[in-house]
Amino acid sequence: MRQALIAGNWKMHGDSQQIHQLLGELKPAVADAEADIAVIPPAVYIPLCDELLKGSNVVFGAQNVSEQREQGAFTGELAASMLKDCGCTYVLVGHSERRALYGENDALVAGKVAAALAAELKPILCVGESRAQREANETLEVVGQQVDVVLSTLADGHDQLTIAYEPVWAIGTGLTASPEQAQEVHAFIRSKLAAHSQALAEKVRILYGGSVKAANAKELFSQPDIDGGLVGGASLDAAEFAAICHSIG
Ligand code: PEP
Repeated sequence: MRQALIAGNWKMHGDSQQIHQLLGELKPAVADAEADIAVIPPAVYIPLCDELLKGSNVVFGAQNVSEQREQGAFTGELAASMLKDCGCTYVLVGHSERRALYGENDALVAGKVAAALAAELKPILCVGESRAQREANETLEVVGQQVDVVLSTLADGHDQLTIAYEPVWAIGTGLTASPEQAQEVHAFIRSKLAAHSQALAEKVRILYGGSVKAANAKELFSQPDIDGGLVGGASLDAAEFAAICHSIG
């Protein structure tokens, strides 16, 4: 049985005062939640999250990481070892906004996943098709390619990977994949993991992301291959995010 995970991607939102308020409300509201819970703040607020989340059941992560494994002349980059040193548990890799706006390709994403795992950070690999790709019936091909590139570089035993299926057309749009649409892709990703190793397929969590809210979380999370959610907009509202966290055991 895989332990559920709900991760809140704050994207480029928030300031110190808002984070004090959000986490002040969130911590008591999810103290008895059964799922693992993480917040993913902008990197400059990682130390503040570390301070505010001490003693709680909420951990934190980063939204991006360098593929470079050694410290060096890489202005603006953050090494996985630095994020680990600052207390991060998770790191998002290959979010569709980074792929679309910052030109991250599958090879770079695979390098970032490998760097994260080498530093004992848990990468959350984001994959998903665009609306045009779904309409052209290319969803499984696109997602399969995004997953395969990473799996082909994974050393055995790396079950600390989490995959988030996030159809690009559902991110921040209010459109959500139906539970059946999501389950079809999650089962396909699970079959890709199984082709690599059965142990990986059993252990790796596959999250759904794309306009998850309290109103649709329970139905999505009840699907057999959906092990939790990657939540954007709704994670900025403590009560809404807490309700999502309580929608899965
Ligand atoms: C995301 O940013 O990963 C995301 C799923 O956003 P939203 O929940 O706002 O669609």
